[in-house]
Amino acid sequence: MAEFQRGNRRALSMRDIRPQGWLARQLQIQMEGMTGKLYEGWDSVGSYSGWLGGTGENWERGPYYLDGLLPLAFYLGDQEHYEIALRFVEWTLESTMEDGNFGPVSSREDYWSRFVMLKVLIQYKEISGDARVLRLFSGYVRYLEKELPVRPLTQWSRARAGDLLYCLGWYYEQKPSEEILRLVDLIREQALDWTDLFADFPFVRGADFYYDWQDVFTRHQGEEFDRVMNYHATHIVNLTMGFKYPAVLSWFYDDMDFAGNARQGMRAAGKYHGVASGALNGDEHIAGNDPSRGAELCSVVEYMFSLQVLLETFGDREAADQLERLAYNALPATITEDFMSHQYLQQANQVLVSKAPRDWFNNNDEANRFGLEPHFGCCTANMHQGWPKFLKSLWYREGEDVLEAMVYAPCRIETQMGGKWVRIVEETEYPFRNRIIFRFEQEEPVRFCLRLRVPGWCKSSRVKIYREGAGLAEEEKRKDWKPDGPGISLEKVWKKGDVVEFYPEMKVHATRWAHGSLAVERGPLVYGLDIRERWEKVKQTGMFSDFDVYPETPWNYALDAKQEFQVEERMVGPVPFSKAEAPVVLTGKGRRISRWKLEHHSAGKLPEGPAQADCPEEKIRLLPFGCTKLRISQFPWYKS
Ligand SMILES: [Zn+2]
Repeated sequence: MAEFQRGNRRALSMRDIRPQGWLARQLQIQMEGMTGKLYEGWDSVGSYSGWLGGTGENWERGPYYLDGLLPLAFYLGDQEHYEIALRFVEWTLESTMEDGNFGPVSSREDYWSRFVMLKVLIQYKEISGDARVLRLFSGYVRYLEKELPVRPLTQWSRARAGDLLYCLGWYYEQKPSEEILRLVDLIREQALDWTDLFADFPFVRGADFYYDWQDVFTRHQGEEFDRVMNYHATHIVNLTMGFKYPAVLSWFYDDMDFAGNARQGMRAAGKYHGVASGALNGDEHIAGNDPSRGAELCSVVEYMFSLQVLLETFGDREAADQLERLAYNALPATITEDFMSHQYLQQANQVLVSKAPRDWFNNNDEANRFGLEPHFGCCTANMHQGWPKFLKSLWYREGEDVLEAMVYAPCRIETQMGGKWVRIVEETEYPFRNRIIFRFEQEEPVRFCLRLRVPGWCKSSRVKIYREGAGLAEEEKRKDWKPDGPGISLEKVWKKGDVVEFYPEMKVHATRWAHGSLAVERGPLVYGLDIRERWEKVKQTGMFSDFDVYPETPWNYALDAKQEFQVEERMVGPVPFSKAEAPVVLTGKGRRISRWKLEHHSAGKLPEGPAQADCPEEKIRLLPFGCTKLRISQFPWYKS
């Protein structure tokens, strides 16, 4: 039987953290872009929404949108957009039905869309303290207790039951009850068991190796169709949501090594389907690790949220490395710099963005276009949670004694430790630079342990502690600020004016990927070939445009495997992930491989190294992956 046994590690409350520096600018760009404009510009989440009592979309899109709009508006203090989000929240809070269910009546039988709305309401409660949220939860628990035994979770709700358990875990902490524990037992019985899949990950190739989509699609229907092709277990967004499943089970059970299981699942999925950007290929189902296959934007932001839950639960530093890899590479690369259009699918090696048949499992010919809703509108609704939830993923606390910076980005925190206020400003241009400064600003001295994660790619790091306007602090002379395993623990009485500077060494290094390909990395950033892009507008929908992108310079380069790249650090401009003003540029050498050409409108099969690079050596430029819309990020290589 379930028993609540969650440890005392938590992400900081939304009220305790604010963005600074480049991250604040990124959030502002997002609000000036699609997130701020969709309510007016896209009917799926506009005033006809079923989640406002209208006759429009009544499923996941409204809740998906709010899951990003609400925290974004809150962090930016943007009253106008916060009020738009509140309209949906207010309507939802008043929508509870007699049986305890809530949401649009027209979709009342659907479970899944409710899970997303519960996640929104958790954030709203954290911001506002509004007790009506607990009343809605209490009604929904009552509803599920009666309903699930006769109408169990199926399909999406079964595959994504981890999100429901996450919400119930949160609710249990607010208002413990036997009822919730009984419900958790029942949900575990009905849920798709990701722990079983992660223990021995069965899909070591793309879904097309196991299933012929056309055949399955034409010959089977309904539940049989799901079963025949393992539809939900191979669905990429389900899988990335599923990584949180072992973590949330560990809040209630101790019958297995949940932390190990989650790690095992992520490692296996990464090995067989991962690309250098941190994304998992899935177009729409797991697609193998070829860099020309597609990775869906929903899967990027859902993976990021699962990692936040894993970090809160296990404090696993590998999860933090993975979160930075996704947020600093895959996420910015698949949304335009003005945040006005996005792709459904991105490619690690993306050399042409256009409407054309590609080797996707079953996504359509528009899936890698930039636009309002290329292929399908789920990502249009769901992409907004990426950056705001990332902010909440930066800092963690363990009880009243430990504050941990797990993921690095500029921000300001203000929280209570042992009843005393702690104020820290984190100044940094990480991930573009390796200098991270923590300034203590609280009036009263407070004793606690500040923990800093040492990233997995970092071979050596340095910490400086001093007082503003004075020399090195007494404590620094103790020389014991060495990493203890994967982290550095700094325990002392922190006073106003104390400063900690952390320098994780960022060296350019190569990592190996599918077909023996090489990726060039420096710190958390992966680098891609700078290809000149020609953007062509192909469609206008209200205020949104769709684009194709054509390469104006060659892309078929192999890299000299042994070379040293020259690193040029530039200013981090108003648009952090800008191509024209990329904050870091690497220069090195490459040779073109003339037989490496387009196949099915993507970069063809990657030549295995050492490749026969038949063209003369040239100087090439690499930019941060997140700054590119066309690129090679997994290169063939040759020996010089
Ligand atoms: Zn999507």
